[in-house]
Amino acid sequence: MGIIIDYDLCEGPDCAGCKDACPTDVFGIEDGKIVIVNEEECTFCKMCEDFCPAEAVKIN
Ligand code: SF4
Ligand code: SF4
Repeated sequence: MGIIIDYDLCEGPDCAGCKDACPTDVFGIEDGKIVIVNEEECTFCKMCEDFCPAEAVKIN
């Protein structure tokens, strides 16, 4: 299992839908990009996928 952000699709911190949706604070912002900072806390709930308007984040 892993979390993948497709940066060709991601709308970045102006969106932050995944970051706001994640109940365990897996996402952060670094250098103007949404990044994964706490992958070990992921419960694979897929809320980030559901809230991403660009289908840029995938849990697989
Ligand atoms: S699957 Fe759930 S816990 Fe994992 S990064 Fe997405 S919102 Fe967070
Ligand atoms: S919700 Fe999707 S488009 Fe928005 S910041 Fe997260 S990965 Fe990027």
